[in-house]
Amino acid sequence: MKAALYVHLPFCVKKCEYCDFVSYAGKLGKADEYIDAVLNEAKTRKAEYGLTSLTSAYFGGGTPSLLSASQFTRLTEGLCSLFRPEEGAEITVEVNPGAVCREFLAACKAAKVNRVSLGVQAYQEKLLRLLGRIHTFEDAERTVELIGEAGIENVSCDAMFALPGQTVGELLETLGALAELNIKHISCYSLILEENTPLYRKVAEGRLSLPDEETCREMQLKAVGFLQDRGFERYEISNYALKGFESKHNTAYWTGGDYLGLGCAAHSYMKGERFSNPPLDEYLSGKNKTDVQTVDAQGRLEETVLLQTRLTRGIELSAFQRAFGSANLRQLLRNAAKYPDYTEVSGDCLRLNTEGLMVQNALVLELLSGLSA
Ligand code: SF4
Repeated sequence: MKAALYVHLPFCVKKCEYCDFVSYAGKLGKADEYIDAVLNEAKTRKAEYGLTSLTSAYFGGGTPSLLSASQFTRLTEGLCSLFRPEEGAEITVEVNPGAVCREFLAACKAAKVNRVSLGVQAYQEKLLRLLGRIHTFEDAERTVELIGEAGIENVSCDAMFALPGQTVGELLETLGALAELNIKHISCYSLILEENTPLYRKVAEGRLSLPDEETCREMQLKAVGFLQDRGFERYEISNYALKGFESKHNTAYWTGGDYLGLGCAAHSYMKGERFSNPPLDEYLSGKNKTDVQTVDAQGRLEETVLLQTRLTRGIELSAFQRAFGSANLRQLLRNAAKYPDYTEVSGDCLRLNTEGLMVQNALVLELLSGLSA
């Protein structure tokens, strides 16, 4: 079989103030042991699923660019001896400005990495400091240059909005600065304030305050038009790309494709099973695939509506009918018709408009009402 591959590399220089991901500061000394564990896990999953080829691969984290060039080469050569990337497969590595060197990027190029995702987050020094990022915007600019010099042309940058004290103007300043870099893709995410993070505590104690709902709404609306004017089309709630540069790997997640996640805390969806791995120490002791759930037809139906309404192209109605039947299709369209300000049917697709995408979570529950697989 073939699938998309995700490899989690959980090492970071320091934890950012808002970070709730499974990532660790000060544990880079375990990287060699970790790579051995990932390669062992890959062999087990290959035997289990008969996985031979990769539609895409994504090395995320954490900060994958903290690995040395030789560690990254050992990892990718080990994986390529097990799985063959399809011709032209998108292979992405996450990089953080201030935590990457030329040698690492050369190793990426040699491993046929053809896309880099760069965590920039904001243009303004004060916001980067508030987030606990270890870099400046100038570091990000220099990193984009280094990536280009290494011969990798497809670069995506992340930006965040709804940050404490952030104004609409500051968000647009960030997006404008990113659009001027030679990049192809921008992910623009809302801050999710997670409990157990330093930023959460500062907001809870009243030391920082988040922008109000109306400001956040204005940020989203303005970001869509601002990026569109610069050639970046919105194709998913949080993602914008120049034509032809939509992320193929992430699109596999949103459209229900099989994907194998390797490494601590990685999630997988393979042949109707969802499973995940434990945190670092347990993972290094040899435990993986510890939480397994079978996704039944109702689960697939709900995930289809939940994930495909994130895409601006929406749900493909003929495929939905083939998978879940005519009665469910009729019910879905009846539900959507109750929300004409938020939904639209165009050709073979049911999609949420810009207003609908703002309330996607709530709307999905309404769209699923009365559907049963
Ligand atoms: S770099 Fe990313 S993964 Fe690492 S601490 Fe910061 S937000 Fe978390």
